[in-house]
Amino acid sequence: MDAVYLSDYHFHTRCSADSTATLAQQAKAAMAAGVRELCVTDHWNLLDQQGNRLPTVYDWSRPLEQWKRLRNRWAGKIELRLGVEVGNGVLDPAAVDASLELPELDFVIGSLHSQSAAAGGRGIFTVARGCTRREEGAALMEDYMDMLEELVRTGGYDVLGHVIYPLRYLPKEFALDLRPWWDRLAEIFRTVIAQGKGIECNTSAGSTVEQWRDVLALYRDLGGEVLTLGSDAHRPDHMAAAFPQAVELIRSLGFRYLCVYRQRTPLFYAL
Ligand SMILES: [Zn+2]
Ligand SMILES: [Zn+2]
Repeated sequence: MDAVYLSDYHFHTRCSADSTATLAQQAKAAMAAGVRELCVTDHWNLLDQQGNRLPTVYDWSRPLEQWKRLRNRWAGKIELRLGVEVGNGVLDPAAVDASLELPELDFVIGSLHSQSAAAGGRGIFTVARGCTRREEGAALMEDYMDMLEELVRTGGYDVLGHVIYPLRYLPKEFALDLRPWWDRLAEIFRTVIAQGKGIECNTSAGSTVEQWRDVLALYRDLGGEVLTLGSDAHRPDHMAAAFPQAVELIRSLGFRYLCVYRQRTPLFYAL
């Protein structure tokens, strides 16, 4: 990795149900990868994989405690910020806003990990992996686009999390991409840009870089500038995964900056 200031603005720790990593392990791995700034974004999902509702009040005690304990441990080497990844906040935007009233909170990723309530609310990971026909995959994408539109309408996020999320898990032989929904995605991005919000390039532990090309190019063409970079690492060896390739792609598309956040406001640093 070259000497550019780099940030990983999407990763998890044992404060997420699907990770056992400590914040110290993740921070050390990030430093070893040359990252200068981190924002820890543990999960707060409003639905579980089966579609059951989860609490609409986020319990900040553990994520806040671990962040406070470590925030200054590597002062001068790495900046450590506190964020959260909200899953399906569209279910209750007012409750989400209430739980995000935390002075220490710098950054909120708005993600959709589950189908809409009307479609059953099951985890997109589970549904996508279980799809046996292309039409089922397309229906999942259609529902996902409906929710993305609702998410940008209701707010409660700083960047949209992994916009290409269902494509991570849909069977590759369906050869689905976002092209059938391109006009809707463009409209979603126009709203994001008008709100002064952003999107992320999420390498998904290094598994998705090239899949971002067209989506990031569209966002850039529409004037999008607010962009964060995240590995979505759930374990230390995935921290900052595929960042050199992602940065090369981002630069090649004409982005000159990446963003970090302070108090829910983006700060730009040169790539
Ligand atoms: Zn996510
Ligand atoms: Zn995540």
